[in-house]
Amino acid sequence: MDCIFCKIVEGTIPSKKVLENEHVVAFHDIQPAAPVHVLVIPKKHIASMNDVGQDDWGLMGEVLRAAQQVAQETGIAESGYRLVNNCGAEGGQVVYHLHVHVMGGEKLGPLNSK
Ligand code: AMP
Ligand code: ZN
Repeated sequence: MDCIFCKIVEGTIPSKKVLENEHVVAFHDIQPAAPVHVLVIPKKHIASMNDVGQDDWGLMGEVLRAAQQVAQETGIAESGYRLVNNCGAEGGQVVYHLHVHVMGGEKLGPLNSK
């Protein structure tokens, strides 16, 4: 499958990994929009939030667990951070392998900016 994040899971495309376990990988975003900007992805290819199946909610819990761990390990847990999932065209999704952005390290702007 021609999916850039599946290739990161396989290791055929390099990434700066923050953590990895049997369920998920977290790595630094190549174009950071905040001082800390890490992406957490399930190893399983799920295209978007719309494609999360009934059997995937445990895995989605692992994604959130890893996001919490990333915040702790990058030192932004106490200062605060934002988790973002872009879904679909109007949500601004560019890469169709589900991911959660973990962003922090500065005071982030309001969510109502377009
Ligand atoms: P989204 O708009 O939610 O689909 O976000 C996709 C994100 O993936 C963007 O923030 C990109 O900068 C990031 N990205 C794309 N390719 C790579 C890559 N090879 N390594 C790390 N981050 C990437
Ligand atoms: Zn994929």
